Amino acid sequence: MTTLVRFAPSPTGQIHLGNTFIALVNWLHARKTGGDFLLRMDDTDVERSTVEYMEGIKADLTWLGLDWDRYEQQSLRTDRYDAAAEKLKQMGRLYPCYETPEELGLKRKAQLNAGRPPVYDRAALKLTDAERAAFEADGRKPHWRFKLDQVVVSWTDMTAGPQHYDLGSVSDPVLIRENGIPVYTLASVVDDGEMGVTDVIRGHDHLPNQAVQMQLLEALGFDQPKTAHLPLLMGMDGKPLSKRLDSNAVSGLRGLGFEPQAVTSLLLCLGQGDAPEPIITMDALVEAFDLGNFGRATPKFALDDMKTMNGRVLHALAYEAVADRLTDMGIEGGAAFWEVARNNVTFLTDAKEWWEVIKGPIEPQIDSDDVAFMMEASGLFPDGEVTGQTWDIWTKEVKEATGRKGKTLFKPLRLALTARDHGPELKDLLPLIGRDRCLARLTGDFA
Ligand code: GLU
Repeated sequence: MTTLVRFAPSPTGQIHLGNTFIALVNWLHARKTGGDFLLRMDDTDVERSTVEYMEGIKADLTWLGLDWDRYEQQSLRTDRYDAAAEKLKQMGRLYPCYETPEELGLKRKAQLNAGRPPVYDRAALKLTDAERAAFEADGRKPHWRFKLDQVVVSWTDMTAGPQHYDLGSVSDPVLIRENGIPVYTLASVVDDGEMGVTDVIRGHDHLPNQAVQMQLLEALGFDQPKTAHLPLLMGMDGKPLSKRLDSNAVSGLRGLGFEPQAVTSLLLCLGQGDAPEPIITMDALVEAFDLGNFGRATPKFALDDMKTMNGRVLHALAYEAVADRLTDMGIEGGAAFWEVARNNVTFLTDAKEWWEVIKGPIEPQIDSDDVAFMMEASGLFPDGEVTGQTWDIWTKEVKEATGRKGKTLFKPLRLALTARDHGPELKDLLPLIGRDRCLARLTGDFA
C-alpha cells in the first residue's frame, strides 16, 4: 500500500520550528517510502484562520523544499463532516447535550470536591424527549458528544512505543459545538479515513487524542493508520519554543538570512540525535532520514547552533547555488570569488564584506613604524600575473630581505592589504585584489 502522510497545520498563525519539524518528518517519511505528502489546512476555526496564513504556510514549505502531492482544506469539506455526524447519530454514538459551560463548571467542581475525576457524567444520555424539547423551546442549542466505548485502547506507536489509554476515565469528547461546527477531532478523523492516510506523524501532545480518534475511526468504518508521535522541539531550557519569537518562525529565519538547508539539516540531526552535519540536497536529506531514530531524545534548539549550521551549509554550497543572489548583491567575482569567500561567511550577505575588501576602496591599516617595511615589501612584489603562488613567493622574499617572520611578517601585510586582521587566505585573495590595488594599498593609498 502506498504511504500517505499528512501535515495538517491550522492556518491561525505562521509555521514555527515546532511544526516545521513535524512537516519535515512527514515529508521525509513520504519520500523515503515512495509515498505521498498531503498538505491539509485545518481551517475549521473560521474566525482565526486566514488566507494570508495559508499562503504563508505554502510559501514557507516551498522555501524549505517540502513539496506536496495533494492539497486539501477542511473548510471546503463540511458536508463530509455533517454526513459522518449523521452516521454517528444513527448509530447512537453521538448524543446531544444541553449543559451550559457554567453548569459543566459546577459539575466539575463538585466532582473534584468529592475527590472524583472530573469526567462528564453522561447526564444528557438520560434526558427524555420531552426534556430535550423543552431545552430546544428555551432556545438552547445542543453540543454533541461522542459516546466512547469505555475500554482500554492499546496500540504501538512507531516512535513513542506501546500505549494504553483507559477511555473509561475520560469524558465523552464534544465533536460538534453549539454553533454546529465540527471540532478538529471529527474533521481530522473523517479526513484521515476518507483520504486514506496510512501514517499519522505529529507531536507528542496529540498522543492522548489518539485513543479517542481510534475509536472514532472504527465507529465510522475506517482503517487504523500507523502512528508516530514525536517528541516536541524544545528550547535549550527544556521549555517549548516560544511561538511569538520571530526567530522561531520559518519566515523569521528566512528574513534573518538563514539558508533553508540550515533549517532542514539542523532539525533532522536534532530529531535523530545525530551530530549536526550540513545536508545540502533533498535527496541527501532523504538518505540520512530514519524514522526509527526519532523519539529517543528531546530535540533542543538554539539559534546559535543554527548560525553555525548556516555557515557550514554555505561552505558546502557550490557557486551555482548562490550565483543569482551574489549577482543581486552586486558581487561580480564569479566562482573564483565564491571559492575564496565561502569559508568566511555565516550568512550569504557576509560575502559583501569580502567583495568590498577585494574591490575597494579600503583604508589600508599601516602602523607608522611599518611604512618603510611596506615600501620594501611593495618593491619585492613579483612581476607578472598575480596567481595562487604569488603570495608564497613574495612573502618568502620579503622574509629574506627584512628578516621578519611569522606574525610580524604576515599581520602588517594583511592589515595593509585588507584593512582587517582576519579573513580568507591571502594567497587566495591576492589574485582577486590584483597587482595595482595590492601595490597601492601597500603604500597606504585608498584603493
Ligand atoms: N491541526 C492540528 C494541529 O495543528 C493537526 C493535528 C494532527 O496532526 O492531527 O495541531
